[in-house]
Amino acid sequence: MRLSMTLEDWLDCTDLDSRTLEFSLYSDRKLHRLTAAFLRRVWEVLPFHDQAAVEATEEFADGKITADEVGWIRSLATRESGETVWLSRPSFDEYDLLYDFDCCPCCDGSRFRYECRVAKQGGIMDGVRNGVEEPACIAAQAAWHALELEHPHIARHPESMAAIWEVKSQFAAIREILGEGNAGESFQASWRTETVRLIARGIYRDRTFDQLPILADALQEAGCEDEDILWHCRRPGGHVRGCWVVDLAMGVS
Ligand SMILES: [Zn+2]
Repeated sequence: MRLSMTLEDWLDCTDLDSRTLEFSLYSDRKLHRLTAAFLRRVWEVLPFHDQAAVEATEEFADGKITADEVGWIRSLATRESGETVWLSRPSFDEYDLLYDFDCCPCCDGSRFRYECRVAKQGGIMDGVRNGVEEPACIAAQAAWHALELEHPHIARHPESMAAIWEVKSQFAAIREILGEGNAGESFQASWRTETVRLIARGIYRDRTFDQLPILADALQEAGCEDEDILWHCRRPGGHVRGCWVVDLAMGVS
């Protein structure tokens, strides 16, 4: 049995490769949700096209759109922002696409240049499409990108106390989505009664996280006395779609 990722695990992951490796132990859906959670923490400073890519990522996590559709929207964000957060392992060719270059005589304005790129390269960049299939890598990059967006001066000094403080604060999103301790393992299928599933699905669908104490009551009625689970439901605030308790109650991972 494996315990959920701890703060010490997270702080020990000081580069993208080690974060990717750590995240790769979780389901694709969880990792799409985690990517969205990292970037939603910096929503106010997130460019419009990246906001659209986050929303598409959430829809993809729920199976509402296809991998090509989320890839197209992420590609648009990548071209518009010039950032590499949605690229799995960027190739030099695709880096070229992110910056201004004279691709042909008709490229005399950014709009035309963009359309020209799409016509020549297709709507979905290969590296972005690969990233859809490598959610651990994208989640690792999203954490770093969020830090850079909100605190550019901190990101340049990852060893500073301020940077470590911010990285610690990101752990709240990890704990909310990937779980705490071994609660995921101890959840009993018999607790997932029809009432529990109904309440959980309603919370997930409508983002009514203020209903979580009611879910706690229903779980307790079904026999759950797990303190981690009940406390998670009854504590105030901090929940997002992908909340590990709501997921467990719905029976998704
Ligand atoms: Zn939660």
